[in-house]
Amino acid sequence: MYPPLNIMNRLYFDYNATTPIAQEAWAAVEEATHIAYANPSSVHQNGVAAACVLRTARKSIAECFRVHEDEVLFTSGGTESINTVFHSIRKCLPEKKEIITTAIEHSSVLKVCRDLERDGYKIHYIGVNSKGAIDLHSLESALNPRTAVVSVMHANNETGVLFPVAEISSITKKFGVLLHVDAVQSAGKIRFSMDDLGADYVSLSAHKLYGPKGIGALWIRKKAPFYPLLLGGSQEKGRRAGTENVAGAAGFGAAVRIMDRQIEADVDRLTYLRNFFEKEICRRIPGVVIHGDESLRIPNTSNLGFDSVDGELLVTALDHAGISVSMGSACMSGAHQPSHVLTAMGLGESTGRSAVRVSFGRQTTLAEVEVLINQLEKCVIQMRGFHAGLPLSKVQEGVL
Ligand code: PLP
Repeated sequence: MYPPLNIMNRLYFDYNATTPIAQEAWAAVEEATHIAYANPSSVHQNGVAAACVLRTARKSIAECFRVHEDEVLFTSGGTESINTVFHSIRKCLPEKKEIITTAIEHSSVLKVCRDLERDGYKIHYIGVNSKGAIDLHSLESALNPRTAVVSVMHANNETGVLFPVAEISSITKKFGVLLHVDAVQSAGKIRFSMDDLGADYVSLSAHKLYGPKGIGALWIRKKAPFYPLLLGGSQEKGRRAGTENVAGAAGFGAAVRIMDRQIEADVDRLTYLRNFFEKEICRRIPGVVIHGDESLRIPNTSNLGFDSVDGELLVTALDHAGISVSMGSACMSGAHQPSHVLTAMGLGESTGRSAVRVSFGRQTTLAEVEVLINQLEKCVIQMRGFHAGLPLSKVQEGVL
């Protein structure tokens, strides 16, 4: 039934790829699966019970982000939410054929933009500086009467760098242009309300915040242009056809309630662990750079580059040592290309290829971080030894 892998004793530092489901969220999924199994569109009592579970989940999300529950649309995850926004724009504003985004967005935005380019859209990809910060002047100069939407991420999935979304919102408002924020990586990691972002659309995903996979949400500001991506039944007030994922929504709602309760404590703990990790790594290993460290970041993410070390080999070496980290975006793994995020930050190909992403989460302990530091030091020393052509015996002694 399960792959024959023993993952129980491994150390997991890839929370930006996905998080383990919280116990309370899993209990909500189980309960809804067994008890609220009916179709929420059915008029009988079983259906009403399922609709009630769905409503409670929607209410939890609305309360946490300080919006009206009618503005929360359940989707299958971040990717669908993002695709829904661009589809709405395409359908509702056909005369506006320009879109502004950034060079470091997630592939779910960039691939849609490439597709729109093939359909004649002009896409402005705003650059970032070496710290991962967006060039707001370029963004403002790209705005014009043909701009349909500005789409930016809140936190970058590879570096954790935060964009100043409120500032971007004041620019888009000045020009009367719609704003979509991909908050998939920031939701659950820092507290914000939809008003803080000042957007018209915000994409969220449950599995990044200790909820189940296969469920997400799109917040749509009242009166913002909207056209459904999925056509069929009249679920979600006609905005997304298909029988709702009631159990997934229940788990999402529970995960958001936990987050609402403990996000400040999580932020404090993760900031401490991340800072300890980065300080120790820089103290113990020469030739380390932390990408985006001078910018405002979400508290759980470190993106590090090591001189003369191939990031992919380092990820593999750590994997053999029982430690899971990643090279960047999980969606880009296997692409064998330097990260588009680090490339946009102006890092050369070899620096880009040397990067690994470490992302901490609720279950991460200080003792685990210490093991990670020791193993990283060992692997980096060994890999540099091989790189320098030292004989195996010297490499094993850990000679730099
Ligand atoms: N946006 C960002 C910034 C992400 O990191 C991800 C997933 O990694 C997505 C969108 C896509 O979310 P999902 O996996 O829920 O489709």
